[in-house]
Amino acid sequence: MAIVPIVKFGAEVLDRRAVELTEFSEDLDTIAHDMIETMYAAPGVGLAAPQIGLGIRLMVIDITVGEDPEKVVVMANPVMVEQEGEQHEEEGCLSVPGYSGVVSRPEWVKVRGQDLKGNEITLEGTGLLARAFCHEIDHLGEEEERKDAKTREGARRNPVRLLALRLCESLRLCVGRFL
Ligand SMILES: [Zn+2]
Repeated sequence: MAIVPIVKFGAEVLDRRAVELTEFSEDLDTIAHDMIETMYAAPGVGLAAPQIGLGIRLMVIDITVGEDPEKVVVMANPVMVEQEGEQHEEEGCLSVPGYSGVVSRPEWVKVRGQDLKGNEITLEGTGLLARAFCHEIDHLGEEEERKDAKTREGARRNPVRLLALRLCESLRLCVGRFL
């Protein structure tokens, strides 16, 4: 297990749609554990694989930041399947240090994905957990590969830029910085 550097805004890996995981080897366990340790050290409540330089659809979340080991979520290939309600809370991102803003998110979400062995899992979250699911899924980019990814419209769908702009929704000043 190791704490690894967190990739910051501007790094190419954060701009790309992360790819689906199809192999569930022991290497994936190591990656997930490094991500958890790195998230705790930051400290943060969630981390997506592109934030440690890996363009794969893997995320870790722990809204207790290590207080309750049973609350750790590790999910590969997450897909948002249901959402309800609305919340508006302050949000930041370990890859966009120095910026935070009030972001609109659903109050409750249901997410389907796979565990580290490739078994399908479905999880639900409200409040902060719902926000963390939404934020980390944002980092992975759209669930479906877009055919127009190379066009200007597609490029605007760059995951980390969309996230940064979300953080700036209520803070017009920094919009120019992330466009
Ligand atoms: Zn983030």
